[in-house]
Amino acid sequence: MPILIDGKKTSDQIKSEIAARVAEIRAEGGKIPHLAAVLVGNDGASQTYVGAKVKACEQVGFESTLVRLEDEVSEEELLKVVEDINQNPAIDGLIVQLPLPKHISVEKVTNKIKPEKDVDGFTPANVGRMTLGWPAYVAATPYGIVELLKRYKIETSGKHCVVIGRSHIVGSPMSILMARNDYPGNCTVTLTHSRTKNLPEITKAADILIVAIGKPEFVTADMVKEGAVVVDVGIHRIDDSTKKSGFRLIGDVKFEEVAAKASAITPVPGGVGPMTIASLLYNTLLAAERKVFQ
Ligand code: NAD
Repeated sequence: MPILIDGKKTSDQIKSEIAARVAEIRAEGGKIPHLAAVLVGNDGASQTYVGAKVKACEQVGFESTLVRLEDEVSEEELLKVVEDINQNPAIDGLIVQLPLPKHISVEKVTNKIKPEKDVDGFTPANVGRMTLGWPAYVAATPYGIVELLKRYKIETSGKHCVVIGRSHIVGSPMSILMARNDYPGNCTVTLTHSRTKNLPEITKAADILIVAIGKPEFVTADMVKEGAVVVDVGIHRIDDSTKKSGFRLIGDVKFEEVAAKASAITPVPGGVGPMTIASLLYNTLLAAERKVFQ
């Protein structure tokens, strides 16, 4: 049986560590971390995600502010809201929930966020700092994966890590982090994408396989080396009439058959997914304690 890398348990552990630190800050009379989330429009999934982030802030004792704007808000108005939060000394971290309506430039809005408050790690300043190996806010999903590898003491030095997918939020930063001269890191990294030829040949050579392709159960056992560590980032809802909810979640990896070959694997649900909110909370704590930009 492979080691099951439990993201639910690990994220609960991180949240209790953060809550303990907040209690200390409170006892010392220090500044309680404060996260502001900006939500534009009424998209159901975005409302759920932001709601979960605000609730998690409450759970660990942070303060939070939710700014809700209409779908029709102009780009200029949104930029003004971001600037006001940038200037507000009471707020340590700021996230703007994506996607934004089509008439608003994601680049302009992202670039407006003060890097010191960019706890999503999406600004060019933070991506650049991460790439240089400087202290940075690392985006939630890659940060969550790195933390799982660390807490499960997965050996990475000298290993061949194959990443499937090159998105700015998962695949690309993951490839940079795994190649860094650090732990986890020091891997020889192959970044694969939609134009990659002979993908199974490459994945079969992976000691560590990180899958962020966005295709349900794409990675099958014949694509994986015996003893590989497999991290499944994908999340897909599929209909399931046997469930009360009417659906279940699956990943980018065919779990049962790949688990039979892997030495360690993240499940879906309960793997990478729960780690993302814990990462955001951790970045907000770093922001409040001025640990990244000093
Ligand atoms: P994306 O659609 O932006 O990127 C998919 C990537 O896969 C692209 O870079 C593309 O080049 C690559 N790709 C497509 N076909 C390929 C092929 N045949 N061979 C190799 N590469 C190929 O996806 P994303 O935003 O990185 O998300 C990936 C998955 O992870 C999705 O299922 C998403 O829902 C999930 N996700 C989960 C979390 C989480 O918290 N667990 C966070 C973000 C994304």
